[in-house]
Amino acid sequence: MAAPEDKDIAKLFGEKKEEKIPFRCPICDYDEYYPVYDQGNGIIGPGYVSKLTHYVCGGCSVHFNDPKAFIKRLTRIKKKK
Ligand SMILES: [Zn+2]
Repeated sequence: MAAPEDKDIAKLFGEKKEEKIPFRCPICDYDEYYPVYDQGNGIIGPGYVSKLTHYVCGGCSVHFNDPKAFIKRLTRIKKKK
């Protein structure tokens, strides 16, 4: 039986690709955020490695390490009110 490889490939890409989650900045209400990478290992071309250091809100440029945790934390604060 031929396995549906599309699913496997999608899964593979899904794991590699930067996963964007529904985001709403509680500070400025902006709904986009961007990953910020370090300057890498100095190699241009194949072999270039850069690490994701943090994320930044596209609206107010607040820095955070984990979008999910960032939203969760602030959702919790909002619930308390
Ligand atoms: Zn913001």
